[in-house]
Amino acid sequence: AAAPVEGTKRVLLAAPRGYCAGVDRAVIAVEKALEHYGAPVYVRKQIVHNLHVVRTLEAKGAIFVEETEEVPTGELVVFSAHGVSPAVVKSAEDRELRTIDATCPLVTKVHREAVRFARAGQEILLIGHEGHEEVEGTYGEAPEATTIVNNPAEARTVHVTDPENVTWLSQTTLSVDETMEIVAILRERFPNLQDPPSDDICYATTNRQAAIKEIAPHADLVIVVGSANSSNSVRLVEVALEYGARAAHRVDFARQVDESWFAGVTTVGVTSGASVPDVLVQDVLALLAEYGYAGVEEIVTADEDILFSLPKELRAKLKEDG
Ligand code: SF4
Repeated sequence: AAAPVEGTKRVLLAAPRGYCAGVDRAVIAVEKALEHYGAPVYVRKQIVHNLHVVRTLEAKGAIFVEETEEVPTGELVVFSAHGVSPAVVKSAEDRELRTIDATCPLVTKVHREAVRFARAGQEILLIGHEGHEEVEGTYGEAPEATTIVNNPAEARTVHVTDPENVTWLSQTTLSVDETMEIVAILRERFPNLQDPPSDDICYATTNRQAAIKEIAPHADLVIVVGSANSSNSVRLVEVALEYGARAAHRVDFARQVDESWFAGVTTVGVTSGASVPDVLVQDVLALLAEYGYAGVEEIVTADEDILFSLPKELRAKLKEDG
């Protein structure tokens, strides 16, 4: 970024930010399901981890449930972008639910790796946050072969049966740096540790972290738009602080921005998680302009042109309906 004139309030806006291809696809899947099947459309868990998105879809007739058991027999249920374990698919089948699987293809990729490595007799160390929906889904593919590693401390103590046959996989939305630190610890303990065939941390997570790394050293304050349960949004706050932002806060909505944060602040960095519609970022920019942070410079660190086709069940229905 260009050096600011001393005292000139400005905004550095990260690009890429916001919606990734997996979120875009999942949200459109629910919208199209509502259009083509009519309300109600049940959705297991939040379709993506964003409050605004969930409320907007609710207003259109989506009903969010925690488990498929809450969906009446024979009804339509959408599986969220974070993926589901085989046990959830089975339970939906047993209850004769109609399903649309909006699991992000990059999460499905990790599921396939888990199945393949487990079949090959490998023990899997799954780096990720226990309790996160995506981790539950991936773990569920091969529970007997998988151990979850939450952090570097667990990497130092995790027990494996055969150190010669160990593979690591990861959640898609982790901190790139921390994951590499964990892998280094594991590799030191298990020199024959196998890597996944390609990165499990997805392009969107990687790119959003790279963009905020550029901005953070210049920022007195970083505002990350994203929900509290959005893993990649929470990581953006941590990465901003690690890379030199003096302060960093996460907000769901512009109205949560606190005036006290602006004391002594010249440069504000702004970004958003992969589940955040850009309208929420525009609201924050409008608020910042009211406080005199009017000059917005976009810091572009990557171009993204990835698009995923809609879930196959939905494509078939759209074709049928013409
Ligand atoms: Fe897919 Fe990555 Fe988006 Fe998750 S953050 S939905 S893995 S593209």
